Amino acid sequence: MGKIQELTEQLANQIAAGEVVERPASVIKELVENAIDAGATQIDIMIEEAGLKTIQVTDNGEGIASEDVLAAFKRHATSKIHTRDDLFRIRTLGFRGEALPSIASVSEIRLETAVVGEEAGSLLVLKGGRVEEHSPAKLRQGTQLTVSNLFYNTPARLKYVKTIQTELANIGDIVNRLALSHPNIAFRLAHDGNRMMSTTGNGDLKTAIAGIYGVSTAKKMLEIKAEDLDFTLKGYVTLPEVTRASRNYLSVIINGRYIKNFALNKAIVAGYGSKLMVGRFPIAVIEIDMDPLLVDVNVHPTKQEVRLSKEKELMGLITSAIQQALASEQLIPSAVENLKFKKKVDWQHTPKSEQTVLGFSQPKSTNPERFESMERIEPTEHLKKTSDLAFDRMTGDFFVKEEVEEFVVETPTHEELAPVETPKEEEIYEEYEQTQHPDFNWSDSAEAKKELNRVMTSLEREEVPEERFPELEYFGQMHGTYLFAQSDTGLFIIDQHAAQERIKYEYFREEIGKVGDDLQELLLPIILDYPTNDVLTIKENEELLHQVGIYLEPYGQNSFILRYHPTWYPQGEEESIVREMIDMLLSTGNVSVKKFREATAIMMSCKRSIKANHYLNDSQARVLLEDLAKCSNPFNCPHGRPVLIHFTNKDMEKMFKRIQDPHISYGQ
Ligand code: ADP
Ligand code: MG
Repeated sequence: MGKIQELTEQLANQIAAGEVVERPASVIKELVENAIDAGATQIDIMIEEAGLKTIQVTDNGEGIASEDVLAAFKRHATSKIHTRDDLFRIRTLGFRGEALPSIASVSEIRLETAVVGEEAGSLLVLKGGRVEEHSPAKLRQGTQLTVSNLFYNTPARLKYVKTIQTELANIGDIVNRLALSHPNIAFRLAHDGNRMMSTTGNGDLKTAIAGIYGVSTAKKMLEIKAEDLDFTLKGYVTLPEVTRASRNYLSVIINGRYIKNFALNKAIVAGYGSKLMVGRFPIAVIEIDMDPLLVDVNVHPTKQEVRLSKEKELMGLITSAIQQALASEQLIPSAVENLKFKKKVDWQHTPKSEQTVLGFSQPKSTNPERFESMERIEPTEHLKKTSDLAFDRMTGDFFVKEEVEEFVVETPTHEELAPVETPKEEEIYEEYEQTQHPDFNWSDSAEAKKELNRVMTSLEREEVPEERFPELEYFGQMHGTYLFAQSDTGLFIIDQHAAQERIKYEYFREEIGKVGDDLQELLLPIILDYPTNDVLTIKENEELLHQVGIYLEPYGQNSFILRYHPTWYPQGEEESIVREMIDMLLSTGNVSVKKFREATAIMMSCKRSIKANHYLNDSQARVLLEDLAKCSNPFNCPHGRPVLIHFTNKDMEKMFKRIQDPHISYGQ
């Protein structure tokens, strides 16, 4: 007998299972996708022990006819495509005919299904892919598939499964995306008898978003819409002030399929330009409809990665749709909103009765620090209902979203109470000081390059906001860090460093771009020395330096001499500006002049802006605010942090309980 033998069907299925069903969440994904393909309008998912003990998916879809029940568990058996042509117009989520046999090969399955018009439904029980029972069953249209003891016969796979919390987080994530992709289907997910999420299935995307991310988040989302010859897109994105620490909350849905695509996620973020803070991401749900011919879903067995024929065009459409939606929005974050933080859930002190209302028992492994590290969420109006429970997919924990009734006032430490040393006036404002950006280390060139690329891509797309800058009347400074101003609409607090960074950035961007013949001669030429490899880079980029007004003459082996400089260089700053520009060239490498100018402007603005703890006198502060008002985007620093926040008159009244307070006024 020869050496080569065909694998048994069971072994082949187990191998396939390694790709299709790597963890409980992928089993759920496959089963729910089958239910969606079967036209269900209600899908219930019940799991025990994060799916390792039981996964049960019940749908009211078309069901499987008794003659097909066994075939459904055969490899490459599908009702969804029949010919090669079908492969190019896939509208269903499944088509490879792999999921059921793969899942069956690594678990025990019980299937009950029936189609309308048949005399009886079917019951099928399989263990490790082998049929143990096959009989007629009660008629109830739809399908219920129960998977037990997942991975019981593949111990290696079982080991790969992470903690219950992590697996639950993955499950929550995948079910959320499936529900967002199908707002017309009512989903319910329960773990160990407790409801984790549900959607109404009323067909409205915003309602589905509210069911998943909470009502108040949904309220802070803008509708986006766009269309071109190839694509129709619609969806919701959060205002720039509502952000998360990861890209996990970006959902792109193509023809009803949630997909993972880095480029499209990037396009979403790019739509925000510099309105997002460093390392923060919006929440977005974007549905895209396109001809199935333009998208190849047959790239990976899980069908989440796709290949798009017109990816660049689609990216552009997404970015501009978001830009448009944001252009008309209020860009000064409301201070009160910013002050609302997620409250810690004190499970120990939550009364038992409340816990049952909440539907959750205390997660055993809850580490209190986890809550601290969790990000801010928005408050919801309705408290202590199950829908107020959200699932943190970063940590795999549940938390309660609550309105914070009172702002947390922290007791200042001893040092904070100590008087701030006030520098002499002449030392400040005009003083060009080397300051580190609070978020960021300029001396690390790899980090500098990364940050610059990020900021530049967002700035490239920066649109001039339509919102008018308020007319501010300055009245005070705090801790040499914040400026206070008022307008008709309320109180504004301005971060003086961010404000000056924006002003200087726009100034330098403009000036660096102006290169004419108006060079000024230096009294004393400057000699600049560099190591050989840097000398080579500088020589290669001579042209780029000319375009920013730097003319270097070789001067010996490793040196250059500089005799002239553009007239805008502030006196005494010539050498440091030239050195900084050359350093920038050495760290950014080969970039376009435009990018180089912007990068240099960002770096120079950052280094030359007043930092915190610097006292400004009245007129300096006023000049700063006037200059800020002249900026094309006065709302964010080049790194995307807000420059100013706003307490509206109404916020103030609320905080002092002047609103809704039936207080008798004795004064009148
Ligand atoms: P695929 O979804 O790629 O066709 P599966 O192995 O997931 O492959 O399913 C095999 C077949 O079983 C499907 O083509 C479909 O006809 C049938 N099927 C599976 N689940 C359901 C369900 N919940 N309702 C109706 N039919 C189903
Ligand atoms: Mg399938």
